[in-house]
Amino acid sequence: MRTQVAIIGAGPAGLLLSHLLAVGGVDSVVIETRTREYVESRIRAGILEHSTVELLESVGLGARLRREGDEHRGIYLQWPAERHHIDFHELVGRGVWVYGQTEVQKDLGQARDAAGQQVVYDVRDTTVHDPAEPYVTFTADGVATRLDADVVVGCDGSFGPTRSAVPGQTWQRTYGYSWLGVLAAVAPSTDELIYAWHPDGFALNSMRSPTVTRLYLQVPAETDIAEWSDERIWDALATRLGHGQDGWKLTRGPIMEKSVLPMRSFVQAPMRHGRVFLAGDAAHIVPPTGAKGLNLAVADVALLAPALVALLREKDPRLADEYSDRALRRVWRCTHFSWWMTTMLHASDDPFDAQLQLSQLRWVASSTAGATGLAENYAGLPIGF
Ligand SMILES: Cc1cc2nc3c(=O)[nH]c(=O)nc-3n(C[C@H](O)[C@H](O)[C@H](O)COP(=O)(O)OP(=O)(O)OC[C@H]3O[C@@H](n4cnc5c(N)ncnc54)[C@H](O)[C@@H]3O)c2cc1C
Repeated sequence: MRTQVAIIGAGPAGLLLSHLLAVGGVDSVVIETRTREYVESRIRAGILEHSTVELLESVGLGARLRREGDEHRGIYLQWPAERHHIDFHELVGRGVWVYGQTEVQKDLGQARDAAGQQVVYDVRDTTVHDPAEPYVTFTADGVATRLDADVVVGCDGSFGPTRSAVPGQTWQRTYGYSWLGVLAAVAPSTDELIYAWHPDGFALNSMRSPTVTRLYLQVPAETDIAEWSDERIWDALATRLGHGQDGWKLTRGPIMEKSVLPMRSFVQAPMRHGRVFLAGDAAHIVPPTGAKGLNLAVADVALLAPALVALLREKDPRLADEYSDRALRRVWRCTHFSWWMTTMLHASDDPFDAQLQLSQLRWVASSTAGATGLAENYAGLPIGF
């Protein structure tokens, strides 16, 4: 097989990149280890930044999002006995959209189908060869296949093989806790997300649709999900989110899915080696507190697609040469914001830290300067920031 751009991974970064390349007149083939059904039902992120929505709309991927997604003006910040609304629209003139990653993935899949895009699912043994004249080998339906390309892009997430084909420096931070994420078949108890600091641990009340609630609890790293019955989860959520506080009630419902998400920060640089590029989680991971992972993946490919179009169609390497540095500027900004939100909101055993966190939360909730910093980062900086 031969194509201009071989894309490894059919997550949001990979499928969106193939879409943007097609808009620019560049061919690609996408390969993916999982089945399409698995990829489209994977419960992950659900908050889209303003610039992510604008980009999706600009390439014909915004119709269902506008119809079924929910625009939020801001978030609530909470600690025991207090809840404050941070109004992003008022502070920075833009908000965020609640629209599940599963839905983004389905929209991308349908758009790629309509364009006749080749996406090979269920492959095995993906290997990237020769960064100067790259090709990818893999097995599909038991047949060993070689895919030659002008460029290979690793959109293969944090455990994919492309990262190791791109030598460079790495930075990482682990946190001593994880999130227990729950998807419940019940209408959200809140109009906008509630980020709650509590001495028992952080809790987040999010949502995916008018009938589906997404909730998270801070739990110790390495937590065994079997230790958390549905009842224990709801009790902890009720305590940490302040059920009964000022008349607010957390409505319980059937839990459809629960899983433990490790929290870590990771950045690899550069995001390019020869003609092999990295985008999305393949190059960087953020803890989900700032809702940045999916948005960063989108921002990377929004920079990479025009760079590859210029490189392959006009033989102009300038944008491709700048890609890694430009993408990493935004990656580090979001890495800092995600770390900041995480360390401000998660309980530790240190009582001094707890006082600092509460002081920080009070400042953010009461000072326009503090709230604006949060709003600007959460609603999202421009893609080329
Ligand atoms: C388990 C998990 C839960 C998350 N939950 C949240 C959340 O609750 N809130 C939030 O804001 N963010 C969350 N995130 C972050 C967000 O979902 C990611 O940042 C986003 O999916 C990044 O998109 P991506 O396309 O770069 O990577 P991915 O979505 O990971 O896509 C990478 C794709 O590459 C494929 N792949 C891997 N190896 C190979 C191979 N060898 N050959 C071919 N294909 C391969 C994978 O199967 C996958 O489909 C979560 C991430 C993970 C991993």
